[in-house]
Amino acid sequence: MRKTALALIAALLASPAWSDTLISNVNGVQVGADGKLQHFRALVVGTDGKVRQTIAHPELVRLAGITETIDGGGRTLLPGLIDAHGHVLGLGFSALQLDLVGTNSLDDLKQRLRAYAAAHPEARWILGRGWNQELWPVKAFPTAADLDSVVPGRPVVLERVDGHAIVANTSAMKAAGVTAATPAPPGGRIENGLFVDNAMELIGKAVPPPTAADSDAAMAKAQDILLGYGVTGVGSMSTSLADWQAMKRLGEAGRLNLRLMVYADELKLLPEVPHPTPWLYGDKLKMVGIKFYADGALGSRGAWLKQPYADKPDTRGLQFHSDAELADLHQRAAAAGFAIATHAIGDAANAQVITSYEALSKKYGPNRRWRIEHFQIADPADIPRLAPAGIIASMQPTHQTSDRLMAEKRLGPNRLAGAYAWQTVLKSGARLAFGTDFPVESPDPFPGLAAAISRQDMQGQPPGGWLPAECVTLAQALDAYTRGAAYAGFADDKIGSLEPGKWADFILADRDPTTADPQSLARTQVLETWVAGKRVWARTPSPAPTERGK
Ligand SMILES: [Zn+2]
Repeated sequence: MRKTALALIAALLASPAWSDTLISNVNGVQVGADGKLQHFRALVVGTDGKVRQTIAHPELVRLAGITETIDGGGRTLLPGLIDAHGHVLGLGFSALQLDLVGTNSLDDLKQRLRAYAAAHPEARWILGRGWNQELWPVKAFPTAADLDSVVPGRPVVLERVDGHAIVANTSAMKAAGVTAATPAPPGGRIENGLFVDNAMELIGKAVPPPTAADSDAAMAKAQDILLGYGVTGVGSMSTSLADWQAMKRLGEAGRLNLRLMVYADELKLLPEVPHPTPWLYGDKLKMVGIKFYADGALGSRGAWLKQPYADKPDTRGLQFHSDAELADLHQRAAAAGFAIATHAIGDAANAQVITSYEALSKKYGPNRRWRIEHFQIADPADIPRLAPAGIIASMQPTHQTSDRLMAEKRLGPNRLAGAYAWQTVLKSGARLAFGTDFPVESPDPFPGLAAAISRQDMQGQPPGGWLPAECVTLAQALDAYTRGAAYAGFADDKIGSLEPGKWADFILADRDPTTADPQSLARTQVLETWVAGKRVWARTPSPAPTERGK
């Protein structure tokens, strides 16, 4: 025993170089490669911004003789959180647009629209997002006439919280050349100014595209928001060419602090980006893959189900592609070397995507990290098909807490067995990656971690949790939010844990997730965010960290 301890001390004495930085006096928590929680008290970072080691025993730290020390003040240190599925520019734009998240009635929506229109007389189009009629006392979709009553003269387009429906006023429909006689395209629906899924594009194409300056403002805004929530890496989904260019401009300027694993919006970027790129700007940006859609969303009844909707028996939702079409899209992306992520929410869509991935796995092997985005409603019979084909379930815990009442209505009580079934996915041997789908949900990862372990919302509802057998442990939740998300984005050799050789991307938080109850965990405040060993965000501006004896 004594010999082992001496060998350990010798290793500690030998390994840190004089210029390494010791971040001491921290309550370090991460998930090890074995899936278990690891605790440590100090972190050593090299001048290259990479982790040299974590140290579990402070009494040995004093022996290590490192000359540059930052006192962590006893705060909790976690690896930077990685959101496996978000919309970066969407977050930035929505933060700059009319915010309708949390509107509690149609009148509330109108009130916010009136105030925003008055405050932005220069905006030629008024764009907003985030309404959800399911939260209103009268659960009817807003109409063109509702918007006309507030803003008759300027085009107004307001997107539903899930991004799968918009409501437009008469002025916007006129500008788009849409009349009462315009038919809905396949995979879409139009009613009283509401445009669902594929019909959204009828209005969307008339909205003036953002300028490069608009995109730069949105990109910078999104980065600031994400770092403030302790998110240091993102699987950037459905990325447009304009988004990609804004990311590159921030990288060129040396101001990109997030690590972005980028998935292009279907095949639209192929002419400009025909293959995955290497990591750019010090491992900050990489075009990894291509994102496709197999169906819509549950809230707007666009999710494609095996059986009819319980609350609208004349529909099974929207199938976006025939089996042959989807297989062809997947095949083209895979042949170009891209990773593939496919949005699938309904059980029919999930089964279709699994079938397509099974064929790809036979051809390319199971290690191409085929991803299903959301995997919300699965037929329990399909879940065991994930692991053998190497399919990753990329899921969003806060969708479960936001959706549960709606999901019960859409599916009825007897079809919930494979709904948001995180623990069943893990038990099947498949890998899980967690995220938020921001700006559909807040990018704050902590309500997601709390939902993952409790199946309860921020208010603790419902008591005991919703289908609580699908809770995961804190270690499993943190793993999905760090290692799992890095793995899903082909970045697990660089980020996802504080291990020697990986980037020193970490956060300091105001509480310990291993001792906080779910209600408290959900309200965790990030105090500082560090990327590549440098502090890039702090809650309150404070003087430079104390450095001693250099
Ligand atoms: Zn999304």
